[in-house]
Amino acid sequence: MDAALPIIGRLAPSPTGAQHAGNARTYLLAWLSARSHAGHIVLRIEDIDSPRVKPWAMQQAMDDLRWLGLDWDVGPIIQTERLARYQQVLEELQQHERIYPCTCTRSDIEAAASAPHIGQEGPVYPGTCAYRSVADAAGLTVPFAWRFRTDAQQPQSYTDLLQGTQVCRTVQDLGDFVVGKRDGSPAYQLAVVVDDHDQGITEVLRGDDLIPSTFRQLALYAALGWQPPEFGHVPLVIGPDGRRLAKRHGDTRISLLRERGVPPERLVGFLAWSTGLQATAEPVSPRDLLAQYQPQSIARAPFVLRPEHWNALLED
Ligand code: GLU
Repeated sequence: MDAALPIIGRLAPSPTGAQHAGNARTYLLAWLSARSHAGHIVLRIEDIDSPRVKPWAMQQAMDDLRWLGLDWDVGPIIQTERLARYQQVLEELQQHERIYPCTCTRSDIEAAASAPHIGQEGPVYPGTCAYRSVADAAGLTVPFAWRFRTDAQQPQSYTDLLQGTQVCRTVQDLGDFVVGKRDGSPAYQLAVVVDDHDQGITEVLRGDDLIPSTFRQLALYAALGWQPPEFGHVPLVIGPDGRRLAKRHGDTRISLLRERGVPPERLVGFLAWSTGLQATAEPVSPRDLLAQYQPQSIARAPFVLRPEHWNALLED
């Protein structure tokens, strides 16, 4: 990237529940990465997944971020206030026949005998509806989604800011993906690309479960003729059972520490240690970590959060 361009990063919580230790770790690194280059930060609330959105979760996420010492310059920008813009870009993709109407249900796709393989991302779409053109949508009498047509022209590799070169066979391993849902709402893949583009985001740091999504998003950037941001993916926090952090691993909500009066520097110090940014978990503020932030020194393996780690944070 042009060194003269200012970095614009973003914090993008989904208000579908409480933010936990894993989210805090990603936000801390996203903030440090932008701020260590005097960059700006946009706060975006990703609330388009309406059935899962909790009314209290947006305010709580903002309180959590402020408590952690992670500030922002622009926002909150709320995705559900931008639905018309996502629709406009969907229409642009229609005009170029980059998407087609798909009537398959999830179980149709799972049952398709020809589905080549099932990865962690679910079955690759077998292409059942790919013969359709945009105009065919007018004649459909059942609900349909809009699916993006991947092709061999899509980017197959990129250099991750934290994890180096990443390679993916987008067509074979990911396949055509949904950009507009059956209920008429935009899918995450579309909304996030439109937002990152419109909001001038130059750098995206997020959890590494989203690396496959990055390839889908790069395909969308290419189709729209937009310059993509740089991407960095933070290794996930997992539980002792090797699965990604979830409620079954206990209550690791940021707001729990906040309510218990734990100093935020304690969590930040612990998270900095967990990523390899400091040798011990000694308390520290995000601002005090700026000087030592080095993307190369971030651990690439997932971090195993043990109950004793969390209990130590809660101790008086
Ligand atoms: N809103 C998503 C989350 O909280 C992040 C998506 C993204 O960073 O692109 O997991």
